[in-house]
Amino acid sequence: MSRCPNCGQEITNNNDYCQHCHYPLFEDDSVRQLRAQVWARKQVDKEEERARIKAEREAKEKAKREAKEIKKREEVERLARKQIQEEEKRAKEVANREVKEKAKREAEEAKKWQEAERLARKYTQKEEKKAQRLTAKKGESTAKEKAKKEAD
Ligand SMILES: [Zn+2]
Repeated sequence: MSRCPNCGQEITNNNDYCQHCHYPLFEDDSVRQLRAQVWARKQVDKEEERARIKAEREAKEKAKREAKEIKKREEVERLARKQIQEEEKRAKEVANREVKEKAKREAEEAKKWQEAERLARKYTQKEEKKAQRLTAKKGESTAKEKAKKEAD
């Protein structure tokens, strides 16, 4: 029973290669060396291919992660923009409402003042009339007295 010089496992078949790791098992030294070189190159090629596939997979995953990250950031920015817009809208609405309420208050105030002025004018007119009547009466009685004095 022989063992594979490469992997150390038992070789149970009579093939030219180990059935476990496919290491060449030729008896002839020159052939074996050549085969061993080919085998070693194949191993290197395999290793490189594995590394290439691994690097490709990692690059793909990295790109995927980055795309996800960008999407997430964009979503966060979109939400922030939306929030700002909503806040601006709310502030605008509040400002509009305040302007309207102020205008309403001022209109009410103006109306009140107009009413007060109207009442004041009415009162003044009444007072003036009263004063006029009194003056007229006084004039009348003075005239009467005068006439009476002259008659005496
Ligand atoms: Zn082997």
